[in-house]
Amino acid sequence: MNLHPAHILSILAKEYKNPVGFLNYRNSFELLISVILSAQTTDRQVNEISNKLFACYPDAGALAAARQSHVEEIIHSTGFYRQKAKNIIACAQRLVENFNSEVPATMEALVSLAGVGRKSASVVLGAVYGKPVIIVDTHFKRVCTRLGLTHSSNPEKIEIELKEIVPEEIQYDFSMLINRHGREYCKAKKPDCVHCPLRNICPQAEI
Ligand code: SF4
Repeated sequence: MNLHPAHILSILAKEYKNPVGFLNYRNSFELLISVILSAQTTDRQVNEISNKLFACYPDAGALAAARQSHVEEIIHSTGFYRQKAKNIIACAQRLVENFNSEVPATMEALVSLAGVGRKSASVVLGAVYGKPVIIVDTHFKRVCTRLGLTHSSNPEKIEIELKEIVPEEIQYDFSMLINRHGREYCKAKKPDCVHCPLRNICPQAEI
C-alpha cells in the first residue's frame, strides 16, 4: 500500500477537480470574517448571509464602526450570533488599530485577532498568502486517522505530525482535499468505502 501524502493527493486531485474552499469571498478581509463566522455552522449558511454583510461593511474600517445589534441581525442564522458579532467587530477594530486595516500574514498576528484560532488562521495563510499550512478540522482529523496518518486526537499534535510527512508545497492542497474527502466519502457515520477512490490504499477500508 502506498500511503505517501503525494500519492493520496494525486488520487484526490483526480477525483476533485477543484480543490478550492467552500466559503465565498472576494478578498482577504472577507475570507477572514467568513472563517470566523463559520465556527459551529456550515459554510453554506455563512455564504447565505455574507453578501449582505459585506455590502453593509465592505472593509475593516466599516465593520470596526458597526453597531453590534445590526451585525447580529444580519448574521443571526449562523448561530452564536452575539459572540460572533462581537468577535468580528473586535477583529475589525484590531485590524484598523494594529495592522493598517490589512489582514496580517503571520500565524502569530492572526491568532491575536478576536475569534481566530490556529485552524482559521491556517485557512487564511494558505488561501490568501500561499503559505504551507496543515488545516486540522474535524473532517481532516477523521480522514487522516482512518488513513493511519496520525494516531493523535490533539489538533496541534496532528498539525505537527502531518507537517512532518506532507511536503510543504502540497500542504494547503492536501488539507483542502482531505477536508473535501471527509465531506464527500469518508463521512463520520457511514464512510462510503465501496466507492471511495482511496479504498485500495486505506487500511480502514470497509469493503
Ligand atoms: S476507504 Fe473508507 S475509511 Fe478509507 S478513506 Fe475511503 S471512505 Fe474513508
